[in-house]
Amino acid sequence: MVDGDWFEVRRFPHDVTLIREPHHGEDVKVYLIEGNRDVAILDTGTGTGDFPALVASLSDRRPRVLQTHAHWDHIGASHRFDDVLVHPAEAEGLRRGTPPERYIAAFSPEAVDSGRLPAGFDPSGGLPGREPTGWLEAGDRVDLGGRVLEVIHTPGHSPGGVSFLDRQARALFVGDLLYLGQMYLFFPNSDPAAFRDALARVAALADAIDTVYPAHGPTPLTFADLLAIRGAFEEVWAGRTPDREGALLGFDVAIHDFGRFSFLLPRGD
Ligand SMILES: [Zn+2]
Ligand SMILES: [Zn+2]
Repeated sequence: MVDGDWFEVRRFPHDVTLIREPHHGEDVKVYLIEGNRDVAILDTGTGTGDFPALVASLSDRRPRVLQTHAHWDHIGASHRFDDVLVHPAEAEGLRRGTPPERYIAAFSPEAVDSGRLPAGFDPSGGLPGREPTGWLEAGDRVDLGGRVLEVIHTPGHSPGGVSFLDRQARALFVGDLLYLGQMYLFFPNSDPAAFRDALARVAALADAIDTVYPAHGPTPLTFADLLAIRGAFEEVWAGRTPDREGALLGFDVAIHDFGRFSFLLPRGD
């Protein structure tokens, strides 16, 4: 086991493997999806520990990183892989990597159980970026050998957010589009209208999906969870009054709290 105290690995049906980092507050979730020839790596975590070695210990297939988007906690080890695909709208973020001040803040004592960090981990240098080696755009099909992932553009949280539909496994991998927890829609390049459209796009896949794999919060989710999130956001869109206001990551936010999940939107004027 590689950095066994930091990563947690869990196997799901249909040769889907979860890698999570439970000792970091983001508890970000990465998925490996095995084809006959390639293994898709849906995001690369926070960059802590030897993620590529862990992947190599779990799969002997050719690794292909498919980024759901380029936020820092999803691109951590991407610079260490040869093949990294992303939506063009996220390319700049992937190239930029994570600057030292951002990376240091991400490992503040409030954000991480410092005692569990791999020996020698030091965030002070930040993380290098990665030039994309290919693109993920709406309607693309990523062939892993005997298994195809269909790319669905699902912006809102982030402009180049994508989801992956695996019809064989009847599964949808959604990145940060939706999960049970606080959904962040307040970044300057977040787009609540695009988020609403993206939810409608995935909700239309009822005949093709049983299981939904998100990048944060409990996993897996059901299609009913997806519909519940969509239904709740329709209420927000129709003019629901926020439950409270607050500040997060330097932004003023309006919070719509539905219990198992909440939407954090830019605070209105
Ligand atoms: Zn994100
Ligand atoms: Zn995230």
